[in-house]
Amino acid sequence: MPRDKFPWELHNFFKKGSRVVVLTGAGVSAESGMPTFRGEDGLWRNYRAEELATPEAFTRDPKLVWEWYDMRRKIIHGCKPNPGHETIVKMEVYFEDFQLITQNVDGLHRRAGSKNVIELHGNLWRVRCVEEGKIFDFMEVPLKAVPPLCDCGSLIRPDVVWFGEAMPIEPLEAAFTAAEGCDVMVVVGTSGIVQPAALIPILAKQNGAYLVEVNLEPTPFTGLADCSVLGKAGEVLPELWNLIKDQ
Ligand code: NAD
Repeated sequence: MPRDKFPWELHNFFKKGSRVVVLTGAGVSAESGMPTFRGEDGLWRNYRAEELATPEAFTRDPKLVWEWYDMRRKIIHGCKPNPGHETIVKMEVYFEDFQLITQNVDGLHRRAGSKNVIELHGNLWRVRCVEEGKIFDFMEVPLKAVPPLCDCGSLIRPDVVWFGEAMPIEPLEAAFTAAEGCDVMVVVGTSGIVQPAALIPILAKQNGAYLVEVNLEPTPFTGLADCSVLGKAGEVLPELWNLIKDQ
């Protein structure tokens, strides 16, 4: 195992009693077969995600937006959690104080077995009635009717945060509190350009946390990180786990 990838002091921070936060983005699900938004395969029928995942797009053409979500839900349905997700579950079991924060809406962390998860941007297996505001799980895949309707006959929308929408305050506050109080933060597979999620590693660092980053390429967090490893989450996280559990 290439231990020289990680700085020697790393094991000092990953004690069983350490307060550990993992923040993930789309990159952690890439090896499961789920395209990131900014990767090469981020385009669908010549639309960018930013043109579809918006309240305006839904008002204009709910069928088009649901067709896109139906496609994404079908992909996720056929995906399995990868060793990156699985390692995060092991970390949750190992550390006495552990919090996972994800920007992903695919539900793969929960499917892998993560329990203590803050889903900052919602979950696309949950929907919200646009009239009644009622929120419920909606697992139908593929969709029988597009767009799908609530029992009351109104449109339902995915219970996710769209571009241009404010994030629900509760998960955000919980994430900020976890970031401010942690000893170590591991940031995995996020480009660091979606706000306010991008503030989370900065808050952790400002409050004295040791910051580890895992990504295929440098990001705005790389200069801030105490340890930055370029590589695939599904490979680097198991290596990190081997270091943690062997100490
Ligand atoms: P992003 O698409 O902006 O960036 C993905 C990052 O992951 C990049 O920095 C890339 O270099 C890195 N990456 C790609 N493959 C990787 C791998 N195998 N291992 C490690 N790193 C890898 O994603 P983001 O920062 O999460 O922000 C995009 C927004 O899009 C989020 O709000 C999220 O809700 C949403 N989104 C979610 C999903 C999902 O749920 N799976 C997928 C696409 C987008």
